[in-house]
Amino acid sequence: MQVHEVELTISAVKAEQYPATNYPEIALVGRSNVGKSSLTNVLINRKNYAHTSSQPGKTQTLNFYEVEHQLYFVDVPGYGYAKVSKKQREQFGKMIEHYLTEREQLRGVVQLIDGRHAPTEDDVMMYQWLTYYQIPTLVVATKIDKVKSSAYTKSISSITKGLGLDQSVPLVLFSTQTKRGAQEVWDWIEKQTGV
Ligand code: GDP
Repeated sequence: MQVHEVELTISAVKAEQYPATNYPEIALVGRSNVGKSSLTNVLINRKNYAHTSSQPGKTQTLNFYEVEHQLYFVDVPGYGYAKVSKKQREQFGKMIEHYLTEREQLRGVVQLIDGRHAPTEDDVMMYQWLTYYQIPTLVVATKIDKVKSSAYTKSISSITKGLGLDQSVPLVLFSTQTKRGAQEVWDWIEKQTGV
């Protein structure tokens, strides 16, 4: 999809604030600093609309980006919330869990994993959780420009093994620098949302 219009509709701290439209939604999840804002900016064709995080884990809101008046991207704050209290983390964890399991408009989740490293424990937990709830998932390996092309296979196998990736779950290698993978990510989103 060629994106011209995008708007941050709401940074929600509670479910009552979620948009009351029936647009399909795609959530993006990943550890802080994995490249989630950067990926979002590439998908929506903007340089710096979704904020790249200077303070990892600080934002405790679900950010709904309305795209082309057709769908929402829902930015779920990075897990591994280093800078927040245990209580805040628990409260926010519940909100995310509720959103991902109860939101009727949700059509799929893009899970970002740093393409340079094996998945972390948090990554594995998140993936298992999405699988348990049978939420359609796309795994994106980020920052792939930092991996030599001769090591792509190794990177793919490390993510596949590390997560215990099901064969039915697609894995895309992505880079904001080269835009590699952007079309594949959009293709998946279009398939999931029917836009
Ligand atoms: P977020 O916390 O997940 O939203 O991560 P950001 O999008 O803010 O990215 C974290 C850092 O990684 C920033 O310095 C980005 O410039 C950098 N980054 C993100 N994606 C890529 C990529 O594909 N290639 C390279 N080389 N750097 C990236």
